[in-house]
Amino acid sequence: MASSAMSDYYEILEVSKDANAADIKKSYRKLALKYHPDKNPGDKEAEKKFKEISEAYEVLSDENKRRLYDQYGKEGVMGGAGHPGGAQGFSSMEEALRTFMGAFGGGETIFESFFGGGGAGGDRGGFAGQSRRQGASKRANITLTLEEAAKGVEKELVITNYVSCKECHGSGAKSPQGITRCDRCGGQGVVYEQRGFFSMSMSCPKCHGEGKSITEPCLKCHGEGLVKEKQHVKVSIPAGIDSGMRLKLSGKGDAGQGGGPAGDLYVFIQVEDHEIFQREGDDVIIDLPISFSEAALGCKKDVPSLFQHTCRITIPAGTQNGKIFRVKGDGFPNVHGHGKGDLLVKIFVETPTNLNTRQKELLTEFSSLEKPANLPKQKGFLDKLKELFS
Ligand SMILES: [Zn+2]
Ligand SMILES: [Zn+2]
Repeated sequence: MASSAMSDYYEILEVSKDANAADIKKSYRKLALKYHPDKNPGDKEAEKKFKEISEAYEVLSDENKRRLYDQYGKEGVMGGAGHPGGAQGFSSMEEALRTFMGAFGGGETIFESFFGGGGAGGDRGGFAGQSRRQGASKRANITLTLEEAAKGVEKELVITNYVSCKECHGSGAKSPQGITRCDRCGGQGVVYEQRGFFSMSMSCPKCHGEGKSITEPCLKCHGEGLVKEKQHVKVSIPAGIDSGMRLKLSGKGDAGQGGGPAGDLYVFIQVEDHEIFQREGDDVIIDLPISFSEAALGCKKDVPSLFQHTCRITIPAGTQNGKIFRVKGDGFPNVHGHGKGDLLVKIFVETPTNLNTRQKELLTEFSSLEKPANLPKQKGFLDKLKELFS
């Protein structure tokens, strides 16, 4: 008896009894990717787990089966003579894989999920038993200046991709007569391998799932149907993009094989630090040093912005160190189109140094004229001290 007969489908899928369809699917996808045989080659435990979660998902994702299961348990859904899995649930990996494909839709989504899970971008995509193979997805990095990120920019990447061979139109054969049916898989593209209790389907190692052999290979691509080619890819980068964001260029990866779709190109964005501007979300911060007399008397200052114009800001008399003035709408445009950030001007009051004799005299005189009302913070602080020690 399979151990899955013992445990509860909800437990297997790590969801609660009242989980909705979306939760169930989400959890299944997560677990299925973790235990997928392509990710765990030769791992019997993972295979078992993969079958278990697929079986659980098959039932819980179907409203009718789920209701029966909730009422009668496993008997309710598995008892029917018509069920191919019998009372033990899924007996073959093919069945589990079918469920998996069903839950993920197209091969593209699956590949993206694997890719997102940390897989290398350089592999040829594609799944066992498919002669239509998707091309590999690629990753590229683009570094931008802060100004480029603020305004948006178009960049060109040079990428070496596999593209369909023009000589043989991707067939890999010198002529149509140079193609014959593969003798290993009989043209199926798939071979079956017995592993313990169930058989695994895998892509035919001889024809790589194509189902055909090339007896007279194309001279240009040596039968691959693909050749490497440098490609210039224009990447239009939207204004407001930030470090760590990723752009997906569909179909800009390697060409597919056997009529499969091309892979995608993922562009990872890095934005360089700027000498005077700092970014915080969609806001831009600039530190503005002013003299201590300017802070005391008030002044007007022209502040540079990211957009090649200056903003005149009025600094009122008595402005303190660290005060932030906000210039509305002069920050980054939101990359998703939700308005714009602000320019934040942060005041840094610089204490004068290297004073000459005359300056010192004046400051000494000034100091002697200072009243508590000139320094309300200091007064408040001294008052607190007094309270504390009285
Ligand atoms: Zn074959
Ligand atoms: Zn060729």
